[in-house]
Amino acid sequence: MLENVLEIGERPEDLVVYAARGKAARDWESYSRIVACLRALGEDETLLVQSGKPVGVFPSPPESPLVLMACGNVVGHYATPEYFDELCDRGLIMWGGLTAGDWQYIGFQGVLQGVYELLQAVGREHFAGSLAGKFVLTAGLGGMGSAQPLAMALAGARGIVVEVDPDKCVRSVERGHLGAVTDDLDVALALLGGGREGQVIGLVGNAAVVYGEIAERGVVPDVVTDLTAAHDAVFGYCPVEYSLEQWRRARLFDPKAVAEMARRSMARQVEAMLRLKASGAVVFEDGNNLRVQAASAGVAEAFTIDGFAERYLRPLFCRGIGPFRWVALSGELSDIDELDDLVGEMAFRPELESWVSLARTHVEPQGLPARSCWLGHGERSRFAVAVNELVRDGRLAGPVAFTRDHFDSGGMTHPHIGTENMADGSSAISDWPILDALLLSASGADLVAVHAGGAGYAGYMQSAGVTVVADGSEGAAVRLRRALDADSGLGVLRYADAGYKDAQSAAASAGLGLHQEQEDRQ
Ligand code: NAD
Repeated sequence: MLENVLEIGERPEDLVVYAARGKAARDWESYSRIVACLRALGEDETLLVQSGKPVGVFPSPPESPLVLMACGNVVGHYATPEYFDELCDRGLIMWGGLTAGDWQYIGFQGVLQGVYELLQAVGREHFAGSLAGKFVLTAGLGGMGSAQPLAMALAGARGIVVEVDPDKCVRSVERGHLGAVTDDLDVALALLGGGREGQVIGLVGNAAVVYGEIAERGVVPDVVTDLTAAHDAVFGYCPVEYSLEQWRRARLFDPKAVAEMARRSMARQVEAMLRLKASGAVVFEDGNNLRVQAASAGVAEAFTIDGFAERYLRPLFCRGIGPFRWVALSGELSDIDELDDLVGEMAFRPELESWVSLARTHVEPQGLPARSCWLGHGERSRFAVAVNELVRDGRLAGPVAFTRDHFDSGGMTHPHIGTENMADGSSAISDWPILDALLLSASGADLVAVHAGGAGYAGYMQSAGVTVVADGSEGAAVRLRRALDADSGLGVLRYADAGYKDAQSAAASAGLGLHQEQEDRQ
C-alpha cells in the first residue's frame, strides 16, 4: 500500500501523494527504513511511525495492529501554519493529508465517488432528482480535483473546470474526461452551449479571474463549487498576480507573500461565488477550506456559502454511510471484478449497484485495483467477512485491504468540513476521532493512524485512519467484523450523541450504545 500510494501519487519524487503536500513518508531515508521494518516485521510486533518516520518496533499480541501512526499532531496553542511549516523545515514533522501518510490513497476514484454522491444529492435537493443537462462551474484538476469532470459526466451534468496548469488539463483530456480545452472563456461558453449532456470543458485560467468574469457577464451556472487546493495558501492556490511559473518560483523563496496574495485571490473568487449565489446558482464549498481563507482575507459573508458535508452528506454519515473502499493486493483486476459482482449479489442498496456498474465502465485502474463504495454501518463488515471467505476459498488471487477516507462519520473532526455546525455545538471537539483510533486498535485493525492538519496544515482538523486486511484466516474474519463495526458504529453514535434523529434510530436498530440503552430498547 505504501508503494502503491507513491506509484499513483502526484509527485512521487518528493514523496507527495496528493493535496499539494500530502506525503507518504517524511523523507527518502525514512521511506527506506519503513520498508525495511515492514519486511522484517513479525505478526507479534507493532511498528510505530511518527509523522512519516519509523521510530520503534514493540512486541504485541498477534491480533493487534501491525502499524500505528501519529502524523502532523501539534498541541493546540502551537498549531499554527507558520509553526507547523517551521517544524517541517526542520524535518521534525510532516503533513500526511488524510490517506497519503497512512498509505490508503487509491487515486482519483476515491474522490470520484465522493463528488458523484455529492452531485447526486445536489440534484435530489435542488433539481427535482437529477443534474442532467445542468451547468456546473468548478476549478482544479489536481489529484482530487481531476475526479470532477468524470463525476459531472456520470451525473449527466455539463460544465466548465477552470485550471491554471495546462498540463493538468491535457492529462484529463488524455484520460478521456474532458471534451475540449481552451484558454478562452467565450470559446468555453460556446462549446458548453452547443454541448451535450456530460460535456465538460477545461478552461486554462485562474479561477479567481474566471469566476469574476462569469459573474460580471451575468452568466449564471446552475451549480458552482471549487476543488483547487485552497487549504494550502502557499502551494495550493495560484494568486492572480502570478503566472504558473512565477508562482512555482515565488512560493519557494517568499512563501509569506505568496500566501497573502493567494488569500486575496481566494477572496476575489469567493466574492464572485457570492454574486452567483445571489443570482440563483446553487453554491457550496467542497471541503477545501476556501471559505476559511476568504474569510481571513476579509470576506465576512464567506460562510453564507454552504459546506458540502453539513448540507448534503450528513444524513448519510448519520447512518454510518461514507467513503469506504477496498484494494486487491494481488494486483489482479479479476479480483475487483469478482468483488463488484459480490456487491450486486449482496443487494445492499440500489444506488450502490448503479455506482458499481458506472465505476466498472468508466473508472480506469490506477495502481493496485481498487473500488470505492459508500457502504454503511453493518454493510461494511458483512461485505468484508464475505470477501474474507472468497480469499479463504481461493476464489480471489490474493488478500484484500479494506480502508476508508478519514472524512467519514466517526473518523474526522473538522469544524469547517465534516463536523461543521454540529447540532449540539460539538463541531470542534476532537475526542471522537481519537476514541475511534483507540477503539480500532483495541479491535485489532491492521493499521491505525491519528492525523491532524487542515488549512495550512495545522490546527484545523483531527482524524483517524484505518486499514484491515482480509487474508482468508479465521482471525481476519473476527478482526474485520470487530474493527469495521466499531469504526462505523462509533460514527453513528457520534451523530446520535449530537442529537441527530436519523443517527439515533440507526443506533437503536443496530443495538449500538451502552448496555443499559440496549436493554431499555429490547
Ligand atoms: P492538488 O494540489 O493536487 O491540485 C490543486 C489544483 O488546483 C492544481 O492542479 C492547481 O494547478 C490548481 N489551481 C491552483 N490554484 C488555482 C487557481 N487559482 N485557479 C485554477 N486552478 C488552480 O490538490 P487536490 O488533491 O486536487 O485537492 C484539492 C482540494 O480538495 C484540497 O484542498 C483537498 O484538501 C480537498 N479535498 C476535498 C475532498 C472532498 O471530499 N471534498 C477530499 C479530499 C481532498
